[in-house]
Amino acid sequence: MLVEVNPSKVIMGRLFYGKDLLQELNLICNENNIKLGRIEALGAVQRASLGYYRQPTHEYHFFVLEQPLEITKLVGNISLKESNPFVHAHITLADEQGKTYGGHLADGTIVFACEYIIQVFEGPDLHRLFDEQTGLPLWQSAS
Ligand code: ZN
Repeated sequence: MLVEVNPSKVIMGRLFYGKDLLQELNLICNENNIKLGRIEALGAVQRASLGYYRQPTHEYHFFVLEQPLEITKLVGNISLKESNPFVHAHITLADEQGKTYGGHLADGTIVFACEYIIQVFEGPDLHRLFDEQTGLPLWQSAS
């Protein structure tokens, strides 16, 4: 499936020390009614909580990295889940040796400093609905 979208505006800013990274991104999208878009960010976190999806059992395994890490890349998208703007993001983090960790960004990842850019799109509503085959809330086309 695919939908055609058009670039609208770009917003950028920073997230404050001590905030929950994923919750703040969701808040920005909800407060600004951003229903479709993409996100990138970089910076550093005080700790991280990431998910890994276990495909055979259709369950997320969450793990915590209890250490300061650089955000070398955060990439995400914005669509609708239960009719609300919803951020889905993956993140790659590096320690002081440059060793990287990555996964599905989860609640509990705490900002040290973070600069984000959100590209807003205009287009048809894109909803996440339960997908039987994967067990995940995946995009469904409206038609
Ligand atoms: Zn994910």
